[in-house]
Amino acid sequence: MNLHEYQARELLKAAGIPVPDGQVATTPDEVESIAKELNGTVVVKAQVHAGGRGKAGGVKLAKDAAEAKAHASNILGMTIKGLTVDKVLVVPAADIATESYAGIIIDRSIQSVVMMVSPAGGVDIEEVAATTPEKIFKARIDSRYGLLPHQAMSLGFKLYDDVKQVRQAAFILRQLYVTFMQVGGSLIEINPLITTPDGAVLALDAKLGIDDNELERRPNIAQLRDLSAEDPHEVEAREAGLSYIKLDGNVGCCVNGAGLAMATMDLVKYYGGEPANFLDIGGSSNPDKVVTALKIIQSDDLVKCILFNIFGGITRCDDVAKGIVEATTQSPLDRPMVIRLTGTNEALGIEILKNAGFDALTDMDEAVEQAVKLAREAA
Ligand code: GDP
Ligand code: MN
Repeated sequence: MNLHEYQARELLKAAGIPVPDGQVATTPDEVESIAKELNGTVVVKAQVHAGGRGKAGGVKLAKDAAEAKAHASNILGMTIKGLTVDKVLVVPAADIATESYAGIIIDRSIQSVVMMVSPAGGVDIEEVAATTPEKIFKARIDSRYGLLPHQAMSLGFKLYDDVKQVRQAAFILRQLYVTFMQVGGSLIEINPLITTPDGAVLALDAKLGIDDNELERRPNIAQLRDLSAEDPHEVEAREAGLSYIKLDGNVGCCVNGAGLAMATMDLVKYYGGEPANFLDIGGSSNPDKVVTALKIIQSDDLVKCILFNIFGGITRCDDVAKGIVEATTQSPLDRPMVIRLTGTNEALGIEILKNAGFDALTDMDEAVEQAVKLAREAA
């Protein structure tokens, strides 16, 4: 789950990290009155779950309330990376002397949480990593001890020469780690972490991703979820107990089991196609899940062919077959579909499909190759 900047910055603030005060607004008039109150240059910032808002025109400086209102009317309603902006954050503009980057990721290859800083902040960190990797500095964090004071100071010295600023940075980095652990984070970033001309170190942006598996024991974080900011199909899928992630390809995949779903996507690519989604209907026998899954896949216009890949274990082939028949009765298919069905109650499942006019294959390679071909022909 991703948080909005205005939510993430409150968590940083609660941990003692300095962030400028700010208020959220949903209309240009509200923005105008907030800007009037702030009485000076302000920044109007789109609140969407996407980075690069600045580049997309979603972050604008305004020298007075009238200009803030004008920016707000442009930003509210605009789309950034496919997401519609319905909220903006209004903050007093900070004077920037330097822009750095500070973030925490989970590096699975070394099974550790890693703190990263870079004096090349304010820009895309992926770009820094690609073009000037020597400007990124990392510290591996041992979860038994957390970010140690000497690690925080060393990283601080990679950003600043002035020891007063190094100390401020070290404090911020340690509190960033504390916040990351407290909220069950999967990623946290301050970009830019700035210095002002008078030497203060401030967080001007905040990005925070939460590991969904951590939400159950953190109701205070779970209630920050903004359903309106998420892909509606992903929301519907989650409510139905399906794992669904939308992608950009044209082969709509409906698979049972996360491992098989990954393997299916690999095979789609192997045969020269592109998957339209990851979708795991899970291991249960519930025709309703198939109905929801097919509905979600069919609502994606990019999908040119639907591929079912079911390996019946706990999931029974006859239940999936019933689900397919029921779903296609409720909303008739308007594009080709390839079904691969094997395992528990395979014969029964194939029989049910046959009676409803569907063919089913038992070989995965054959099914995927056929689906990729049909998608290509329909594109
Ligand atoms: P992002 O593009 O989504 O990462 O949004 P940011 O919040 O990081 O803003 C993008 C850029 O706008 C920053 O890197 C700054 O250069 C600039 N910016 C943001 N807030 C301020 C501010 O208060 N004062 C000034 N001068 N520039 C700002
Ligand atoms: Mn940023």
